[in-house]
Amino acid sequence: MYLDLRAVNVILFGPPGAGKGTQGQILAARTGLPKVATGDLLRAAVTAGSALGERAESYMNHGLLVPDDVIAELIEEVLGWPEASRGIIMDGFPRTVPQAEAVDRLLAERNCRVDHVLKFEVPEDELVRRLLGRAPEQGRQDDAPKAIQQRLTVYRQETEPLNTYYRDRGVLLEVDGTGSVHEIAERVREAVGT
Ligand code: AMP
Repeated sequence: MYLDLRAVNVILFGPPGAGKGTQGQILAARTGLPKVATGDLLRAAVTAGSALGERAESYMNHGLLVPDDVIAELIEEVLGWPEASRGIIMDGFPRTVPQAEAVDRLLAERNCRVDHVLKFEVPEDELVRRLLGRAPEQGRQDDAPKAIQQRLTVYRQETEPLNTYYRDRGVLLEVDGTGSVHEIAERVREAVGT
Protein backbone atom coordinates (compact mmCIF):
# COMPACT_ATOMS: atom_id res chain seq x y z
CA MET A 1 0.00 0.00 0.00
CA TYR A 2 1.20 3.48 -0.82
CA LEU A 3 1.12 5.97 2.02
CA ASP A 4 1.20 9.64 1.14
CA LEU A 5 3.49 11.13 3.76
CA ARG A 6 3.98 14.44 2.04
CA ALA A 7 3.54 17.44 4.33
CA VAL A 8 0.46 19.64 3.93
CA ASN A 9 0.93 23.36 4.45
CA VAL A 10 -2.09 25.58 4.87
CA ILE A 11 -2.29 29.36 5.15
CA LEU A 12 -5.21 31.07 6.87
CA PHE A 13 -5.72 34.36 5.13
CA GLY A 14 -8.13 37.22 5.76
CA PRO A 15 -8.57 40.47 7.65
CA PRO A 16 -8.40 40.75 11.44
CA GLY A 17 -11.62 39.35 12.92
CA ALA A 18 -12.29 37.02 9.98
CA GLY A 19 -12.13 33.91 12.18
CA LYS A 20 -8.70 32.59 11.22
CA GLY A 21 -7.79 31.65 14.80
CA THR A 22 -11.07 29.87 15.56
CA GLN A 23 -11.23 27.99 12.27
CA GLY A 24 -7.52 27.21 12.44
CA GLN A 25 -8.00 25.55 15.81
CA ILE A 26 -10.80 23.37 14.46
CA LEU A 27 -8.75 22.44 11.39
CA ALA A 28 -5.74 21.67 13.59
CA ALA A 29 -7.81 19.35 15.80
CA ARG A 30 -9.19 17.56 12.74
CA THR A 31 -5.92 17.15 10.85
CA GLY A 32 -3.41 16.89 13.69
CA LEU A 33 -1.35 19.62 12.08
CA PRO A 34 0.02 22.30 14.38
CA LYS A 35 -1.48 25.78 14.05
CA VAL A 36 1.00 28.57 14.59
CA ALA A 37 0.08 32.26 14.85
CA THR A 38 2.81 34.89 14.53
CA GLY A 39 0.55 37.25 16.53
CA ASP A 40 0.60 34.78 19.48
CA LEU A 41 4.38 34.33 19.24
CA LEU A 42 4.89 38.10 19.13
CA ARG A 43 2.58 38.71 22.11
CA ALA A 44 4.46 36.04 24.08
CA ALA A 45 7.75 37.73 23.16
CA VAL A 46 6.41 41.09 24.37
CA THR A 47 5.30 39.52 27.66
CA ALA A 48 8.67 37.81 28.08
CA GLY A 49 10.44 41.11 27.38
CA SER A 50 12.74 39.49 24.81
CA ALA A 51 14.65 41.43 22.14
CA LEU A 52 12.03 40.32 19.59
CA GLY A 53 9.25 41.59 21.85
CA GLU A 54 10.96 44.93 22.31
CA ARG A 55 11.28 45.41 18.55
CA ALA A 56 7.68 44.37 17.89
CA GLU A 57 5.71 46.02 20.70
CA SER A 58 5.07 49.54 19.46
CA TYR A 59 4.17 48.38 15.94
CA MET A 60 1.66 45.96 17.42
CA ASN A 61 0.10 48.48 19.77
CA HIS A 62 -0.43 50.88 16.87
CA GLY A 63 -1.96 48.25 14.60
CA LEU A 64 1.03 48.37 12.22
CA LEU A 65 2.88 45.42 10.75
CA VAL A 66 6.12 44.37 12.40
CA PRO A 67 8.92 44.81 9.80
CA ASP A 68 9.45 41.99 7.33
CA ASP A 69 13.05 41.26 8.37
CA VAL A 70 11.90 40.53 11.94
CA ILE A 71 9.01 38.37 10.74
CA ALA A 72 11.16 36.54 8.19
CA GLU A 73 13.44 35.36 11.01
CA LEU A 74 10.44 34.22 13.01
CA ILE A 75 8.99 32.34 10.03
CA GLU A 76 12.31 30.62 9.40
CA GLU A 77 12.38 29.46 13.02
CA VAL A 78 8.79 28.20 12.95
CA LEU A 79 9.10 26.29 9.68
CA GLY A 80 12.20 24.60 11.08
CA TRP A 81 10.38 23.21 14.11
CA PRO A 82 10.30 19.38 14.11
CA GLU A 83 6.53 19.45 14.71
CA ALA A 84 6.13 21.40 11.45
CA SER A 85 7.80 18.68 9.40
CA ARG A 86 4.44 17.05 8.49
CA GLY A 87 3.02 20.44 7.63
CA ILE A 88 1.65 23.42 9.43
CA ILE A 89 -1.35 25.72 9.58
CA MET A 90 -0.13 29.31 9.32
CA ASP A 91 -2.34 31.82 11.11
CA GLY A 92 -1.62 35.49 10.47
CA PHE A 93 1.36 34.97 8.23
CA PRO A 94 2.49 35.61 5.59
CA ARG A 95 1.02 39.12 5.60
CA THR A 96 3.08 40.78 2.87
CA VAL A 97 4.44 39.68 -0.50
CA PRO A 98 8.06 39.54 0.80
CA GLN A 99 6.86 37.28 3.65
CA ALA A 100 5.04 35.06 1.15
CA GLU A 101 8.22 34.80 -0.91
CA ALA A 102 10.15 33.85 2.25
CA VAL A 103 7.61 31.11 3.04
CA ASP A 104 7.83 29.75 -0.54
CA ARG A 105 11.62 29.72 -0.42
CA LEU A 106 11.83 28.06 3.01
CA LEU A 107 9.28 25.40 2.09
CA ALA A 108 11.00 24.72 -1.24
CA GLU A 109 14.24 24.08 0.66
CA ARG A 110 12.33 21.26 2.40
CA ASN A 111 10.79 20.00 -0.86
CA CYS A 112 7.44 21.36 0.28
CA ARG A 113 5.08 24.07 -0.88
CA VAL A 114 2.00 26.01 0.11
CA ASP A 115 -0.88 23.61 -0.61
CA HIS A 116 -3.98 25.59 0.38
CA VAL A 117 -4.65 29.22 1.16
CA LEU A 118 -8.01 29.58 2.88
CA LYS A 119 -9.29 33.09 2.46
CA PHE A 120 -12.09 34.05 4.85
CA GLU A 121 -14.49 36.61 3.39
CA VAL A 122 -16.37 38.76 5.93
CA PRO A 123 -17.93 42.22 5.35
CA GLU A 124 -16.07 45.06 7.05
CA ASP A 125 -18.90 46.14 9.40
CA GLU A 126 -19.09 42.57 10.71
CA LEU A 127 -15.30 42.50 11.25
CA VAL A 128 -15.41 45.69 13.32
CA ARG A 129 -18.34 44.33 15.34
CA ARG A 130 -16.44 41.08 16.08
CA LEU A 131 -13.21 42.87 17.02
CA LEU A 132 -14.96 45.34 19.33
CA GLY A 133 -16.94 42.45 20.84
CA ARG A 134 -13.87 40.39 21.71
CA ALA A 135 -11.89 43.35 23.07
CA PRO A 136 -13.04 43.11 26.72
CA GLU A 137 -12.41 39.34 26.96
CA GLN A 138 -9.00 39.38 25.27
CA GLY A 139 -7.67 42.64 26.69
CA ARG A 140 -5.64 43.35 23.55
CA GLN A 141 -4.44 46.93 23.21
CA ASP A 142 -4.81 46.69 19.46
CA ASP A 143 -8.55 45.95 19.77
CA ALA A 144 -9.13 49.63 20.63
CA PRO A 145 -11.27 51.34 17.93
CA LYS A 146 -8.41 53.41 16.49
CA ALA A 147 -6.03 50.45 16.23
CA ILE A 148 -8.80 48.33 14.67
CA GLN A 149 -9.26 50.85 11.85
CA GLN A 150 -5.49 50.97 11.39
CA ARG A 151 -5.25 47.17 11.20
CA LEU A 152 -8.00 47.04 8.57
CA THR A 153 -6.26 49.73 6.50
CA VAL A 154 -2.93 47.90 6.77
CA TYR A 155 -4.68 44.68 5.73
CA ARG A 156 -6.13 46.31 2.60
CA GLN A 157 -2.85 47.94 1.63
CA GLU A 158 -0.24 45.33 2.51
CA THR A 159 -1.92 41.95 2.91
CA GLU A 160 -4.77 41.97 0.38
CA PRO A 161 -2.27 41.85 -2.57
CA LEU A 162 -1.54 38.26 -1.50
CA ASN A 163 -4.94 37.41 -2.97
CA THR A 164 -3.51 37.77 -6.48
CA TYR A 165 -0.22 36.17 -5.46
CA TYR A 166 -1.92 32.96 -4.35
CA ARG A 167 -4.68 32.98 -6.99
CA ASP A 168 -1.98 33.07 -9.66
CA ARG A 169 -0.43 30.00 -8.05
CA GLY A 170 -3.77 28.16 -8.07
CA VAL A 171 -3.93 27.55 -4.31
CA LEU A 172 -6.47 30.16 -3.22
CA LEU A 173 -9.70 28.80 -1.70
CA GLU A 174 -12.30 31.44 -0.90
CA VAL A 175 -14.51 30.65 2.09
CA ASP A 176 -17.61 32.57 3.18
CA GLY A 177 -16.64 33.56 6.73
CA THR A 178 -20.14 34.55 7.86
CA GLY A 179 -22.57 32.38 9.80
CA SER A 180 -21.99 30.06 12.75
CA VAL A 181 -18.58 28.65 13.66
CA HIS A 182 -19.89 25.20 12.71
CA GLU A 183 -21.18 26.33 9.31
CA ILE A 184 -17.85 27.96 8.48
CA ALA A 185 -15.94 24.87 9.65
CA GLU A 186 -18.03 22.75 7.26
CA ARG A 187 -17.16 25.09 4.38
CA VAL A 188 -13.49 24.77 5.30
CA ARG A 189 -13.79 20.99 5.32
CA GLU A 190 -15.34 21.03 1.84
CA ALA A 191 -12.73 23.47 0.54
CA VAL A 192 -9.68 21.48 1.68
CA GLY A 193 -11.34 18.12 1.14
CA THR A 194 -10.57 16.63 4.58
P1 AMP B 1 -2.76 39.11 15.01
O1 AMP B 1 -2.86 38.43 16.34
O2 AMP B 1 -2.52 38.15 13.89
O3 AMP B 1 -3.92 40.03 14.73
O4 AMP B 1 -1.45 40.02 15.08
C1 AMP B 1 -1.37 41.09 16.01
C2 AMP B 1 -0.29 42.05 15.56
O5 AMP B 1 0.98 41.38 15.52
C3 AMP B 1 -0.47 42.64 14.17
O6 AMP B 1 -1.33 43.77 14.15
C4 AMP B 1 0.96 43.01 13.82
O7 AMP B 1 1.38 44.17 14.50
C5 AMP B 1 1.75 41.83 14.41
N1 AMP B 1 1.89 40.72 13.46
C6 AMP B 1 1.43 39.45 13.58
N2 AMP B 1 1.76 38.69 12.55
C7 AMP B 1 2.46 39.50 11.72
C8 AMP B 1 3.09 39.31 10.44
N3 AMP B 1 3.04 38.13 9.80
N4 AMP B 1 3.73 40.38 9.89
C9 AMP B 1 3.79 41.57 10.51
N5 AMP B 1 3.22 41.82 11.70
C10 AMP B 1 2.56 40.80 12.31
